[in-house]
Amino acid sequence: MPSPGITIIGSGFAGLCMAIKLKEAGYHDFVILEKAPDIGGTWRENTYPGCACDVPSPLYSFSFELNPGWSRLFSPRQEIWDYLRACVAKYGLAPHFRFGKEVSGLEWDDERATWQVSTADGESFPTNAVVSGIGALHIPSFPEIPGRERFTRPAFHSARWDHSRDLTGKRVAVIGTGASAIQFVPVVAEQAARLHVFQRTPPWIQPKPDFAVPDGMKRALGMPGAARAVRDSIYWFLETRALGFTVDPRLMEVQRRVAERHLARQVPDPELRAKLTPGYTIGCKRILLSSDYYPALTRENVELVTDRITEIRDRSIVDAAGREHEVDVIIYGTGFKVVDALNDQRITGRNGLKIQDAWRTGVEAYLGVGTSGFPNLFFLLGPNTGLGHTSVVFMIEAQVRYVMDCLRLLSRTKARAMDVRPEVQRAYNERLQRRLDRLVWTEGGCTSWYLDEDGANRAIWPGFTFEYWARTRKVKPEAYELISPSPRRSGSVLG
Ligand code: NAP
Repeated sequence: MPSPGITIIGSGFAGLCMAIKLKEAGYHDFVILEKAPDIGGTWRENTYPGCACDVPSPLYSFSFELNPGWSRLFSPRQEIWDYLRACVAKYGLAPHFRFGKEVSGLEWDDERATWQVSTADGESFPTNAVVSGIGALHIPSFPEIPGRERFTRPAFHSARWDHSRDLTGKRVAVIGTGASAIQFVPVVAEQAARLHVFQRTPPWIQPKPDFAVPDGMKRALGMPGAARAVRDSIYWFLETRALGFTVDPRLMEVQRRVAERHLARQVPDPELRAKLTPGYTIGCKRILLSSDYYPALTRENVELVTDRITEIRDRSIVDAAGREHEVDVIIYGTGFKVVDALNDQRITGRNGLKIQDAWRTGVEAYLGVGTSGFPNLFFLLGPNTGLGHTSVVFMIEAQVRYVMDCLRLLSRTKARAMDVRPEVQRAYNERLQRRLDRLVWTEGGCTSWYLDEDGANRAIWPGFTFEYWARTRKVKPEAYELISPSPRRSGSVLG
């Protein structure tokens, strides 16, 4: 591969947004490396039945590419994937993709001030800057339950759904009751002869105000300004939820009442209701939205098992009460290895610094975008920029605009690379962690994938998203060390 100016990794919302903004700026010397044979990230990989977004589509889409044609308020996965494909076509991104290219390593060349990108198929090439849009939720996590590998019948993870398995009339076990499981459990419950849902921790669930958008409304949304007004209203409505998350957890009381009323209305049986009532502060784990999950659990053919799983045998699951549940299929809705996804990367920065060593005391970055010692490596949806209350596409756009500003700074100063100053990164993260310490994700009495093994929150942005937007609006040159070209090479990233 000829050496591209910029290498983007991943073709989900993040990678595509970066590519679109580069093209809009008239910059075409970039490639998008995608490990899979197609674009789409999360929305390509998750094909489980019932998969949809739990953030309203007018906001879970690009602000510069509004779609008045969404079929529902919360669009199904296929439609979101189609939307991304339409963006690829409209912005002419096709020539930039390199499919089947899994990045296996990134190595910074101090002498040349370039990255050497290696892919799993043995290719290697230099590039001036790397933008990583790999997301955090792509390595399936399987529970460490004794005997798991002994199960002789079909078993698969929600993010690797095995569509060749017809679940009709089967005895099915679902392990996990998170955001993915609550979407596919209602569908599986209708097909299976018996469904055993193994719950470790009950999630807080609120009603999903989903509806099919009538044609008349779609036409109205096509009128000038209408789709934007709807998007803005949803944005500000969801932003009010951040008050409880980021200002005072006591404000979550209203959210709790909404969820409790939802549970009471949908589950009349007090015993089942008790099993489904969470024992931690709402918001500590992601608040889930569903109007069909609780009704599915009240069906005759569905059993909610709350006794811990002690063992998996060749055809069954044994719980702590000693009951053996014989099943034909196990579906793992057990989430993703998040911190591993960051730590698994083989990235070597300045002076041979490995990213695992840089992150020995915790995964961190400045503004979630850059990590000291790794010049011209920009993360999209990097550390502490995930959200619990609104659309991550908003964060992606803020970050892409910030990266564009960084590239312009390089161009203006004729520097070859920029590296976050360690003291700036430290001060930023100390403030961030102090703020997170007293918030619901840490204080709410739960464990979640937001927290690392030391209990520090490395995933979530602890504020309003407009605050993040304001902080990333303009790059502060003093936060970076600008690395000048060596005498033998010249020019900056954007030329
Ligand atoms: P998740 O939220 O991490 O849930 C994993 C589930 O598996 C939890 O219920 C967990 O229980 C359970 N589990 C894990 N290990 C277990 C074990 N050893 N024994 C029994 N149960 C175990 O994973 P997810 O549902 O795939 O969702 C991951 C993230 O993806 C979400 O937080 C969200 O950000 C994203 N997502 C988004 C959407 C959307 O519509 N936007 C949809 C799906 C997913 P504990 O709670 O006890 O750990």
